[in-house]
Amino acid sequence: MYWNADLECVPLEQRRELQLERLKSLVRRVYENVPHYQRVFREAGLRPDDILTLDDLAKLPFTTKDDLRRTYPFGLFATPLRNTVRVHASSGTTGKPTVVGYTRQDVDIWSEVMARTLTCAGVTQDDIIQIAYGYGLFTGGLGVHYGAEKLGATVIPVSVGNTKRQIMLMQDFGTTVLACTPSYALHLAEVLEESRVDRTRIRLRVGVFGAEPWTKQMGRELESKLNIVAIDIFGLSEIIGPGVASECLYNTGLHIFDDHFLPEVIDPVTGKQLPPGEEGELVITTLTKEAFPLIRYRTRDITKLYEEPCPCGRTHVRMSKILGRTDDMLIVRGVNVFPSQVESVLLEIGQTEPHYLLVVDRRGPLDQLEVWVEVSDKVFADEVRHLETLEKTIQRELESTLGIGVKVKLVEPKTIERSQGKAKRVVDKRDLYNRDK
Ligand code: ADP
Ligand code: ZN
Repeated sequence: MYWNADLECVPLEQRRELQLERLKSLVRRVYENVPHYQRVFREAGLRPDDILTLDDLAKLPFTTKDDLRRTYPFGLFATPLRNTVRVHASSGTTGKPTVVGYTRQDVDIWSEVMARTLTCAGVTQDDIIQIAYGYGLFTGGLGVHYGAEKLGATVIPVSVGNTKRQIMLMQDFGTTVLACTPSYALHLAEVLEESRVDRTRIRLRVGVFGAEPWTKQMGRELESKLNIVAIDIFGLSEIIGPGVASECLYNTGLHIFDDHFLPEVIDPVTGKQLPPGEEGELVITTLTKEAFPLIRYRTRDITKLYEEPCPCGRTHVRMSKILGRTDDMLIVRGVNVFPSQVESVLLEIGQTEPHYLLVVDRRGPLDQLEVWVEVSDKVFADEVRHLETLEKTIQRELESTLGIGVKVKLVEPKTIERSQGKAKRVVDKRDLYNRDK
């Protein structure tokens, strides 16, 4: 079952022709419309006409999250704002979010790749899909929503949270597909177990899980607890949102919809392209996006590519499940958290030492973020009341900056281990990435 067999199953050679044609026109488009690209192309001594083959991709400069931050909010848009019908945003490294835009055609393409994703997962027009990804600036909810509508499935746009109601709707409406983060799915599964619901009233058969890393073991647990097939979907708002890549039912890695998103894997240190099968940083060029095209965007996600054909018949390049990050970004309850955000909040408040540690754990299925902060001897010896007030202030500011609940623990000087070289700011006890163990 394919959504768009003409494009998904063509021989690799034919897709490469399409990619080259699209790449050439993309390079011309950004050069003509985006001052940033004009400048970096000039600096690299490149003109759009220099791109003659797909191998020439490697000559193009990378785009990074820093470039997005420098041009906040709309500086990298390649079409006038009046042609932009939607913006989304995700948390940036310091307070200001990363903003992305879509023309009407971009929204159509997004719906198309999400319809492909859902079809990859075996979802059809006959399914009832409960979308428990967050709706709003986050791309998860609306991304899946548009794809599911395009496919013709029956959409329940419930968004995340209110687990009891989720379970009620699931029974009453006969939900067959659950779309949410894997950690929320685990939470739902546990509440479902505790609530002694009549299991014959749960008709779930597929889970479409993404927006954060999850291991194969966690997938198996979800499959047995919810009696479903769990499918991994991958995306990031900079590229389009969900819909960049998806597993199919053969479990052979994630198909990257590479007629729209041209992937490379590079050595994150040297920037050199790596051959298929080698692990490195995923870099993506958006071949068709109009409002917010990106040339060689460094995702900071670690993976490897496969070119061998998949038994399902799709000829897209595939990637392994995400194996890690090159930076210290954490995803806590679906929200991106950077240690630098915590640092700037602490600096703003003052009153603490510059030593802090983020401790993330999963108690039951829910992520808990604890922030340890050292205070000076003087402050620590102060009245308990003062310490409590300070703790509350830090907690309030962190919660408003990060957008998630946080527990703050003030600790004595020298409690946090000093490292040689690069400071260790994060202890993640959740064990989320697939590493051959
Ligand atoms: P989105 O809004 O699509 O979640 P964000 O920009 O907020 O996008 O976050 C994207 C990041 O989330 C990715 O760069 C990656 O680190 C992580 N992510 C998304 N999907 C997956 C997945 N299936 N497996 C592992 N990590 C994922
Ligand atoms: Zn396949």
